[in-house]
Amino acid sequence: MRHTLTILVLQMMFSASTPAVADTIDSVLRPRTDLARMLLAQGAMNSPTLNALIARLEQSDLIVYIDVDAFRVGHLQGALTLMGHSGGRRYVRISLDAHNDRRSLLAWLGHELQHAVELADHPEITSNDLLAAYYGNHAMIGAADRYESTAAIAMRIRIAKELSVRH
Ligand SMILES: [Zn+2]
Repeated sequence: MRHTLTILVLQMMFSASTPAVADTIDSVLRPRTDLARMLLAQGAMNSPTLNALIARLEQSDLIVYIDVDAFRVGHLQGALTLMGHSGGRRYVRISLDAHNDRRSLLAWLGHELQHAVELADHPEITSNDLLAAYYGNHAMIGAADRYESTAAIAMRIRIAKELSVRH
């Protein structure tokens, strides 16, 4: 059932996103809204750390969609979902909470991109079950099905500092 849902979501995303991502269709990082696109551009320009994360991901098998969503306030600041894999590529979705200000959004973008790098470093993780098993063994475990890594926490703080120095 989970597998079917993943495929359905993937198909919906492809059909819904085709015009918006036309100019980045070959890129690993695929912002799906103007805000997400702007964040990525600003992050690459103003944060060497974000830039390094992006460069690392461009060498990976991942396709990373980036959305800015109106999460329930206080629920989540960001999330990464492994949607599926096909043709040697793994498809990932990052969503960021639209309630945050620009600097926080960029810092959380870096946090989630760090999780994507953790995935990129482990090509054997091809399903959410394997992802959960990996974080169960290697990382801090949050509530229910939420996972955390110390590297991602450090990444967010580092990027927030970089951006505060530069503005
Ligand atoms: Zn995290």
